[in-house]
Amino acid sequence: MGEPSFALISDMLDLLSSFGDRYDIEKIKKAYLLACRAHEGQFRQSGEPYITHPIAVAQSIVELGLDTDSICAAFLHDTLEDCPEAVTPALLTEEFGEDVFLIVDGVTKILQIEVENREEQQVESIRKMMLATSKDIRVIIVKLCDRLHNMRTLGGKKNEDKQRSIAVETMRVYAPLAHRLGMQRLKLELENLSLLYLDPIGYEEVTKAVDARFGRSRDVLVGARKKIEEKLKESVVGFTVTDRIKSVYSLYRKIYELGKPFEEIFDFYALRIIVNTVEECYTVLGMIHELFSSIPGRFKDYINRPKPNMYRSLHTTVVSRDGIPFEVQIRTYEMHKTAEFGVAAHWRYKSGEKGNPYVDAQLAWIARLIESEENMDDPDEYLHSFKKSIFGEEIFVFTPKGDIITLSQGATVIDFAYAIHTEVGNKMVGAKINGVIVPIDRVPQTGDVIEILTQSNHGPSRDWLNVVTTSEARNKIRQWFKREKKSENIEVGKEAVARELRRLGRAFTPEETEEIILAVARRVGMQTAEDLYNTIGYGGMPVSRIAVKLRDESARVLKSQQDAALQTEQTDAAVLADFQENKPKRIKNNGGIVVDGATGCLVKFAKCCTPLPGDAIIGFVTKGFGVSIHKRNCPNAVKGVENPEQKGRWLSAFWDNQSASSLYEVTLSVLTQDKIGALAGITTALAEMKVSVLSLSTAPPKDDKALISITVGCRDVAHYNTIVSRLRTVKTVISVTRN
Ligand code: MN
Repeated sequence: MGEPSFALISDMLDLLSSFGDRYDIEKIKKAYLLACRAHEGQFRQSGEPYITHPIAVAQSIVELGLDTDSICAAFLHDTLEDCPEAVTPALLTEEFGEDVFLIVDGVTKILQIEVENREEQQVESIRKMMLATSKDIRVIIVKLCDRLHNMRTLGGKKNEDKQRSIAVETMRVYAPLAHRLGMQRLKLELENLSLLYLDPIGYEEVTKAVDARFGRSRDVLVGARKKIEEKLKESVVGFTVTDRIKSVYSLYRKIYELGKPFEEIFDFYALRIIVNTVEECYTVLGMIHELFSSIPGRFKDYINRPKPNMYRSLHTTVVSRDGIPFEVQIRTYEMHKTAEFGVAAHWRYKSGEKGNPYVDAQLAWIARLIESEENMDDPDEYLHSFKKSIFGEEIFVFTPKGDIITLSQGATVIDFAYAIHTEVGNKMVGAKINGVIVPIDRVPQTGDVIEILTQSNHGPSRDWLNVVTTSEARNKIRQWFKREKKSENIEVGKEAVARELRRLGRAFTPEETEEIILAVARRVGMQTAEDLYNTIGYGGMPVSRIAVKLRDESARVLKSQQDAALQTEQTDAAVLADFQENKPKRIKNNGGIVVDGATGCLVKFAKCCTPLPGDAIIGFVTKGFGVSIHKRNCPNAVKGVENPEQKGRWLSAFWDNQSASSLYEVTLSVLTQDKIGALAGITTALAEMKVSVLSLSTAPPKDDKALISITVGCRDVAHYNTIVSRLRTVKTVISVTRN
């Protein structure tokens, strides 16, 4: 064989050249020549020269619209493995760059997967593939095209077992991957080809049934299509209508794996309408629903809620005049490209290029899969998680009578029960999967037969709200509680709100609590506190939604009382006189406190928190010692209010405006440097401010520091703050805190 010619790839080169300088034609030619030399003298089992295979793979890559490096890698993808003498990593890197080498290397490392024998091996291969792919998503795209050509030429393999095992692997690993990457066209072809080898008889049966049915209904469907096209012409510019018959494999799956009768498959025949804008999609949808009657429950808006693989379209199923149902898919050209080519459609020529959200999302998905795999020892678990991340949409399970129920992935048997009927869910007491009793939070798998055990006088449990994953089931459970258990809901809701209130770290009397809750209830559009409790109780609203409002309202309630207390100016002449005389003054017994609307009752200040005027306070009716006044954020008060045994003994209290003449004891801890004169500095400062010192003690110095405890007479919080600020300016003082 002399110098290889470009005859075999001349069409491809012409096509690529027509894009101007988008492709590096010389580099592609160089890759092709190296592949020809490396595979020289090698043949495929069919007898063809081996080079036909890399050419076909490169052709698929070109059709997907990938870049120069991907095309080069496609030509060279088998060289590292099959021709190690001729082609080395160093050579590839030197001649074609790091990217081409990494893609070829990645493809090479994905070894033949012996799926039939051991699941561990399958897992190992998937793991390798994912690791290789996570570096550059082009690895998996080249690998998928490689597999596509191998499947197209699988008939050339002599060994039937080998054919079968490759087909199984394609069905289990490659087709799902193509699906997950949104490469629909490739996925369908891989599935159909696999089926042809896995169940040739079933394949033929389905094909025949399709032909027969399509033959019967062809005229009707062609008529429907014409009608649609005429209608669209009136107002939509630049649309395309195509028709398609569902893929053999997807029909096969519905018929044989899910046991659906052929007649019930609505999307067997579909019309696809492609338009320019999203707006037109919805306009066209309206037109379709005007022309034909639609089948309820079959409309799906994948434009607003794209599938996990980014598929977007509107789907609806309508019925022709002759009663033949057919599906209509409506999408834009952009969406169509994504649907057909998936991740490849979004390729932007360079792997390193950041900021393509589509490619990033796909890579993130693969990275997550690898991450989850690292934390998993059990291959079954991994395989399950792999499948879940690929088929992340829905599972199909059966009732004991054989009806198919579709559930979203991750749904539990409770979701299943509610999917059958509300009453089945409400009366559920247990479940069997494939005849075995299972816990009610069990997540069934596709193909499971589920039997729900019920009891007539039974109701759902509130815990179920945390177990179910479908919004339908959650809503139905909430409705039941809303209807059946009002008084219980109110108790549950009340407790939840009380817990939330407790987190604010303040004590409230029952009256204040009522005021706060009512204000919050009004703010969320409810008339009474009961309504709010009830809604929270049956799960209609999470308590977290009112957390901020609770905080706001309680702050408001507290502040209005403090404001009232602080309004009086503290300028009583008698007070000033007292201070000037520097005469210690004891706290009055009922010193300026109003408890629950009545002044003059016996009050004392709690030792635990020694409140000052201006502090938010609350009163506690002691047994025989009058009312003891705590700060609202005193831990004892916060706890006490919640204590049912102390119910009714906590009263709202605030400072009486009229009795500002009292002095209140406050004990300060002053940490000072242990210097001679430190104490003198402090007492001088206090004297300058004419603060009455009620007692003073010092602890023995430690680490050159001394702690001085001073009890002073204070008018109110403002006065207290002045004292503390002044003390902090004394040179030797390190810190001042209130006991
Ligand atoms: Mn290959």
